[in-house]
Amino acid sequence: MVLIYFIFASIVITRINYGQSVSMSGLAGAVSLAGSGGDLWAVEGGNWQMAAGLLNRSDVTLHLQEEISTVTNLGGLYELNSTNGNSYTCQVAVVATPLDELNIQFTPQISIPERKLQHTYTTFIRGLLNPAYFGLDKVSDIPELVGTIENPELPFTCISVLKQNKVNDVTYKMFSRQSMTDALLDQIFSIRNETFRINWGAYPHYHAPEKFAPFMLDDDHLYYINAFENAASTMETGAVAAENMARLILSRLSDKKPSSSYGLKTSTADSNLQHPEL
Ligand SMILES: Cc1cc2nc3c(=O)[nH]c(=O)nc-3n(C[C@H](O)[C@H](O)[C@H](O)COP(=O)(O)OP(=O)(O)OC[C@H]3O[C@@H](n4cnc5c(N)ncnc54)[C@H](O)[C@@H]3O)c2cc1C
Repeated sequence: MVLIYFIFASIVITRINYGQSVSMSGLAGAVSLAGSGGDLWAVEGGNWQMAAGLLNRSDVTLHLQEEISTVTNLGGLYELNSTNGNSYTCQVAVVATPLDELNIQFTPQISIPERKLQHTYTTFIRGLLNPAYFGLDKVSDIPELVGTIENPELPFTCISVLKQNKVNDVTYKMFSRQSMTDALLDQIFSIRNETFRINWGAYPHYHAPEKFAPFMLDDDHLYYINAFENAASTMETGAVAAENMARLILSRLSDKKPSSSYGLKTSTADSNLQHPEL
């Protein structure tokens, strides 16, 4: 019985969390399941505060609304040019976004395996679900989270309540693999006051065994954090990959100094378990 529940839960959860079927590595599937329990944590007021907090504590300059279009290895230095016409030089360049759908020109060229991103269409609706669409009598009979199974006739992956504003005024979040048309939304919702759509190239389309892009894109100091997403794509795994990348860079810049002397803390008390090269 437990096994049946586990299989059924996996079928629904990988669709919700990765927008795709269970045809993925055990690790990605397990990470997807880990994000499905009721004991999930979030920062009060919004997770955006994590990024804001990190920026505030770091000695960095953030350039918003500016895309890097070229990265050129000048030998010892990288020249980065942006779509705003700005040019930057740096000793170390770290790519921290999936390269799969970007058109950044690298000189010399880099080589990474082809990877498809799974697009998740996210639709936010303010209104009220139509119980008749779900074969129910009352809105209150519809669960707060509706997940679906792999069936091409089902037009969405999940719908969940984001916020109950008033009795008949609810904000919902909906994931689907295709854009939700107005006609379809009008069947699913009896009231629809606001609709907001985002098409996200969200995570890799998993295909075990995974082919990983290199974390080092050249022999110098061009790095790629999002290569890790083939294992699993989450904020936490991104943070782990980024910390390991920072350690790798520090250790390659000076493999004589232990990484702790750069102010990076480790979660293990046993310094023998630190792998400076990782
Ligand atoms: C709908 C959805 C739901 C998700 N739910 C969860 C969840 O519940 N929990 C969880 O842990 N993860 C979740 N994820 C996954 C999570 O959002 C990603 O794993 C995480 O955002 C990856 O972080 P990142 O910094 O690697 O990339 P991103 O967050 O994508 O950041 C990359 C940044 O690079 C910028 N950029 C792109 N190109 C350029 C360029 N040429 N020059 C300069 N900048 C550029 C982009 O604008 C972006 O700001 C979800 C993802 C989606 C789409």
